[in-house]
Amino acid sequence: MNADREPAGPRSPRRFPFEDFTLVLTRDCNFACEYCPLEHGRRRMGTGVIESFFAQLLEYVDHEVLVTLFGGEPLLNRRGVDRFFALAEEFAPRFAASGGVLRTKIVTNGLLVQTHLSRLIRHASIPGLAVELNISIDGGPGTQARQRPARGAPRDCYSRLARAISAAKDSGVSLSLGMVAGFSSPSLVDDFKYLVDAFGVPIFVMPVDLTYEFITSCPDLPARLKEYARKIRELLLFLHANSAYGGMAVNLNEKEFRDLKLPPLGPAIDWDGSVYVTRDFLFAMDHDVSFTPIGKLDAQNLDRFVRGFGTSRDGMSAMAQAAMRTYFGRTMFVNKRIGDYFTRLVYSSRCDDDAQTSPDGRL
Ligand code: SF4
Repeated sequence: MNADREPAGPRSPRRFPFEDFTLVLTRDCNFACEYCPLEHGRRRMGTGVIESFFAQLLEYVDHEVLVTLFGGEPLLNRRGVDRFFALAEEFAPRFAASGGVLRTKIVTNGLLVQTHLSRLIRHASIPGLAVELNISIDGGPGTQARQRPARGAPRDCYSRLARAISAAKDSGVSLSLGMVAGFSSPSLVDDFKYLVDAFGVPIFVMPVDLTYEFITSCPDLPARLKEYARKIRELLLFLHANSAYGGMAVNLNEKEFRDLKLPPLGPAIDWDGSVYVTRDFLFAMDHDVSFTPIGKLDAQNLDRFVRGFGTSRDGMSAMAQAAMRTYFGRTMFVNKRIGDYFTRLVYSSRCDDDAQTSPDGRL
């Protein structure tokens, strides 16, 4: 059959050259993770910023638009979340009619998920709208209590979190977990296995980043780094060798090689409307460096920021490198090596690499 005569199939949505838009609904958080380098603040993104953002999204209803709600803990901004999803529901039919899709992703520590779940389930069934939850959790109750304690630590914190994950899983909303491979965890294999056995949900696993203060004050850093490398290696080799667990590791199943330490690029909008090139602007492993906003979102300028990212691959790569240098600052000599080692191990079965055969987990 002549391909020219085939009826046209459904149009694929257009894609941006960047990963997502990020909305930082607040820097406030109800957790106190041992590795968190975020300067917390109690202020919330107002509904005006959210409304302005949506009004300007109208220009992109034929696109696949991914908006990540980020924090701090984004669900602490109840009013902001309510307004965001009311507008998402209102706009979804326009995306559906134009061949686009509005994908929303909430990156959360999970404690408040159940408060929002019924609404998310409803939204996930609306044409033109997709909803995804990524819940950060590092392992079983012991690991979580050690490296991700809730502020004020409610007694039933872990069981509440476990109930939230189970409810989210049963709800049918797209769900993944985010596990930080903690520096002081006795066994990352046990942490990962615990999460798979308890919840059966795909896990994005990432290595920890160390702050400059920690790096310069840790008396036995070389030995600790060697031990950490051994634990990362043990985890990745375990995942490669055990498909029942490895199949649950999001990173291992990504189709394309990518540098797992490059920050996600895209217009990242802080609670007050300031726009940055990456959501990593929130964090600074080294407090001597900081990100500079590329502007402020007003009623008519989102496309200026979008066009700023619509440059060549080289342009994006230069932005990524600059964001990475800013994020890591003087810690780059340690954190980048940890990240590169982790990345090589993730892909070691696909590329000819010596990481797998490194006898003692050298970084
Ligand atoms: S949940 Fe996230 S923002 Fe909150 S303390 Fe932990 S790492 Fe930081």
